[in-house]
Amino acid sequence: MALENASRSAAEGNFPAGGIVVVEDRVISSAISSPYPGLLHADSKAVTAAFESDTDLGKATLYVTLESCLMCTGVAYWAGIRRIVYAIAKDQVDPTYYETAQPTAALIDGFNERLERVHLSELQDEALTIVRAWEEAQNL
Ligand SMILES: [Zn+2]
Repeated sequence: MALENASRSAAEGNFPAGGIVVVEDRVISSAISSPYPGLLHADSKAVTAAFESDTDLGKATLYVTLESCLMCTGVAYWAGIRRIVYAIAKDQVDPTYYETAQPTAALIDGFNERLERVHLSELQDEALTIVRAWEEAQNL
């Protein structure tokens, strides 16, 4: 579903990322990105919508097509989410998409509670296809 969001995001002229928040097999929120570069990333949007739903996010998982940036990782953590699953590792795409070369671990290691991050590598190629098509369309 996050991959579908990424395709839709690109088709609508936005950055090719998608995210959803799931709690116990129930999709709480679903989001696409905004035009690149922009503040409103798919993961932050999905987390914000999930947070506003008043659902307990302690057992929530944020699924994103691209490894979350530091901002979105922080937003997820502050919303109470402790698990992020992503398809594309950040070292697979242009580092300028991330605004900083600081590793995500440098942020997470400072959190009081553990934030689990899972790379769903079997979906990486499919997700990268969406990003590469967007880059081609943008002449990047
Ligand atoms: Zn982000």
